[in-house]
Amino acid sequence: MGFVDLSKIPTITPIPGSTLRTPFGQNLMLSYLEMEDGAEVPLHHHPHEQRGILLEGKVQHTIGDETHVVERGYYLDQPFTCVDCGKDEVWTATQQKWWYEVAKGDVFTTARRCRICRRRDRERRTE
Ligand SMILES: [Zn+2]
Repeated sequence: MGFVDLSKIPTITPIPGSTLRTPFGQNLMLSYLEMEDGAEVPLHHHPHEQRGILLEGKVQHTIGDETHVVERGYYLDQPFTCVDCGKDEVWTATQQKWWYEVAKGDVFTTARRCRICRRRDRERRTE
């Protein structure tokens, strides 16, 4: 799939008070969800990882047994396991805010390596 024109993607109404457009390719799906005030998505789960970007408004969101009220500019600590050494680390909300808003880092960035392995990887690539 190349460029996506959301206005040409068919809209469905998965739950009352919401519309969903879901352009997808072979290995990636993007959902563009619009919700009216008070609309509620029932608890559900996905077999794969999911990320979301809230464009406007405010929403109460539950992941696992944690519930947060999310609005624009809100970041949540993201635990991850380093793909190189297996160490458990956290990409903190403060680090994410700096990465996206100050450093203008790529919006698709995810935390994959711990600080030590990231430095090692960077040194390896500049050799
Ligand atoms: Zn590591």
